[in-house]
Amino acid sequence: MDVTTSVAELSLVGPIYLKRLEKLEIENIEELLHHVPHRYLDFSLTSDIGRAQLGETLTVRGQIVSMKNLYTKTGKKIQVAEVSDATGIILAVWFNQPFLVKTLYPGLKVALAGKIEWFGRKRALISPEYEKVFKGRAAVHTGRIIPIYPETSGVSSKWIRGRVKEAFQKVIQNLSEFLPDDILKSLGLPGLKDAIDSVHFPKNLSDAEAGRKRLAFNELLFLQLKNVWRKKDWEKNQATHKLKIQEEPLDKFISSLPFEFTPSQKRSVGEILQDLERGVPMNRLLEGDVGSGKTVVATTAAFASFLNGYQTVFMAPTQILAQQHYETLGKLLDKYKVRISLVISESVKSDLGKTDIFVGTHALIHQKLDFDTEGGDSNVALVVIDEQHRFGVEQRAHLVKKVGRKKIVPHVLTMTATPIPRSVALTFYGDLDLSTLKELPQGRKKITTWVVPPVKREAAYGWIEEKIKKEGIQVFIICPLIEESEKETMQTVAAATKLFLDVKKAFKPLSVGLLHGRQKAKEKNEVLKGFKEKKIHVLVSTPVVEVGIDVANATIMLVEAAERFGLAQLHQLRGRVGRGEKKSYCLLISESKSKKAISRLAAMTKSISGFELAEIDLKLRGPGEVFGTKQSGFPELKIASWQDFSLIRESKKVAEEAFNNPQKFNLLHTYLKEKQIIAN
Ligand code: ADP
Ligand code: MG
Repeated sequence: MDVTTSVAELSLVGPIYLKRLEKLEIENIEELLHHVPHRYLDFSLTSDIGRAQLGETLTVRGQIVSMKNLYTKTGKKIQVAEVSDATGIILAVWFNQPFLVKTLYPGLKVALAGKIEWFGRKRALISPEYEKVFKGRAAVHTGRIIPIYPETSGVSSKWIRGRVKEAFQKVIQNLSEFLPDDILKSLGLPGLKDAIDSVHFPKNLSDAEAGRKRLAFNELLFLQLKNVWRKKDWEKNQATHKLKIQEEPLDKFISSLPFEFTPSQKRSVGEILQDLERGVPMNRLLEGDVGSGKTVVATTAAFASFLNGYQTVFMAPTQILAQQHYETLGKLLDKYKVRISLVISESVKSDLGKTDIFVGTHALIHQKLDFDTEGGDSNVALVVIDEQHRFGVEQRAHLVKKVGRKKIVPHVLTMTATPIPRSVALTFYGDLDLSTLKELPQGRKKITTWVVPPVKREAAYGWIEEKIKKEGIQVFIICPLIEESEKETMQTVAAATKLFLDVKKAFKPLSVGLLHGRQKAKEKNEVLKGFKEKKIHVLVSTPVVEVGIDVANATIMLVEAAERFGLAQLHQLRGRVGRGEKKSYCLLISESKSKKAISRLAAMTKSISGFELAEIDLKLRGPGEVFGTKQSGFPELKIASWQDFSLIRESKKVAEEAFNNPQKFNLLHTYLKEKQIIAN
C-alpha cells in the first residue's frame, strides 16, 4: 500500500463508503491523510473515576456495570450506563442511540471521554466519546487530543479517525520528504511525516497547528509552482514587438487629457511602458476599483503601440462595453489620426489593413478576425482584455495563440474591477505581474448606501420619483440573477421583464427602459442611447448587461434581492453611480432575514474600499462563491486559508527558488513530475 492506493483497500470501505468519501474529495490514501481536521477536542487528561470533577473535560477508564435504554417524559429514548473503577462509579448518558446497549454491555472494559456534568443529582459524562479498551492497543477516540474532521452524511469523525489510523500505519514509512532541510528549517516547518502525524495524532494543539501549516504550505507551494512554470513558459515566447517608447508624443497625449493622472495611474502606466520595451511579452493584470480609470491607462499603452506602427486589440466582455470603449477611445485619441474599428460584423476583414485599434467582444474578435491573413506575422503588438473574471486563464492562452502564431506573442494587459485581495492575486494570478489603481480620481463623492426592507420599497420609489422630477437625475434598477451563474438565463430575463412592467406602472408617466442580454444589439443600443440622452429616466437592467455603463447623470441605483450578490459584485454595480457632480445613492433591497446576509449587506453601507469588501466577503463566503469557482477555475483552498498571508508570500518565494535551482530541489522536481503537477 502506498499513497496512491485507493481507499477501497482500507477495512470497512466498500462501495457505499467510497461514494460518500468522494463527496469529501477523498479517493486515495494521500487524500485521506490530507483530510485535515477543522478542530480538536482535548481528552488527554486521564482521571480515576473517583477523582473526576464537575466541569472537567477528561478521559476515564472502567468497566460497564449496567447499561439501559430509558424513556423520558416526552417519549424519547436515552441510554444510561454505570461505569466503575477501583475508585468510584460514574454515569454515562447518550441520547437516541438505542442500539448502544448492544455495543456497550455489562462487563466490558471501556474508555469514555467528555465533560463531567450533573445528570439529576449524579456526576455523569453526557454524550461521551467511547471505545473498548484492548491490551496493547493505543486509544483512538479517547485519552488524547482527538481530531474533528469535516464530515459528510454517513461519514463521522469517529469513522474517519479509524481509517486514518489504519492508513497512517500502513504508509507512513513510504512517505518521503521532497523539500530540502534548510528550507524547512528557515520556515520553521516540520517534515512531511511529522506534519501528517501531528495533524491526526497531535501531542498538543501547537503541534497540530505546526502540522497543518506544513500541509497548507504544500498546497500553496503547488499552486505557486504551477504559476511559476506558466510564467516561465510565457516568457520563453519571444515578442518581436519590442516597442520603442517615444516620450515626447506620449507626454503630449497625457498632458492633453482633461484631467491629471492619479499617482497609481502614473505608476501603472510607467510599469506597462517598461514592459512594452522588454523583449519578453508583457502579461500584466491591471486591477482597480470601478471608476479608478483603467481605460485611460490602457489607452495610453495602445497609443504607444500605435506610435510604433503596431495594432492593438481591445476586448470587452459585452457588446455594450465594446461600444462604450470604442467611443471613449475615439474621444481620447481624436487628435492623433488613430484609426479605430468596432468589430461588429463580417465587414471587418476589409478594415484589417486600415485599422490601428480593434475594439470588440471576445467572441466577435475570435470569430471575425484572422490576424494572419497575409500569411505573415501578426501586426498586433498589444491585446487589452477588460474584465478578467469573464475570461479566465484558459481563454487567455487560447486568445494569444489566435493572435500570435509562430511563437510571436503580443503583450497582454488584462484589466479587472474585481477587487482581488493581494493574497489571492499572488496565488491565483501568480503568473501575472500586477499593477494596482489604489485610489479613485479626485472629486468623486461618497455614495450613500442603505439597506431597504421590502416593505419600504414603495416609499423608496416615491422618494426616487421626487428626485427625478426635482433634480432631473436618472436611475438604475437592477434585477437579481435568478441562478447562481454569471450567464443570463431565460428566467432572469423573465424576472427583468416583470420588474420592468411593475416599475413602469409605479413611475407612470416617467419613461422606463429595459436592458437584458437576450435583446438584439440594435435594441440594446437604442435603450442605451435613450438613457445617455436622458430620454429614459429609469433603466431596469439585469446585472450582466449593466456592468460598465458610464452615465454621469445617473445618481441612484436600486438593487433587488441584493443578498444574492457578492459584495465585490455589488460594489462594482454601485460604481455605476457617483460618476458626476451630484450626490449619489445606492438602495439595496433584501428580503433575507439571515443575520449573516444582513451583516454582509451592512458592510456596504460603511465607507470602505472594494478591496476591503472583497476581504470581508472572502471571509464570510469563501472564494468559491465570491469568484465563482466553476467559471473562473478559481482554486478552492482545502488546507491553507487566504488569511495565511506570510505563508502565501513564502510559498511564492520557494516556488521561484525551486525553479531556478533544480539541483537543490531535485526531489521536489521528481515529485512534481510524478504527480503531474507540472509538465516535463
Ligand atoms: P474603470 O476603471 O471603472 O474602467 P474608467 O476608465 O471607465 O474606470 O474611468 C471612469 C471615469 O473616470 C471616466 O469618465 C474617466 O474619464 C474618468 N477618469 C479617469 N482617470 C481620471 C483622473 N485621473 N481624474 C479624473 N477623472 C478620471
Ligand atoms: Mg472599465
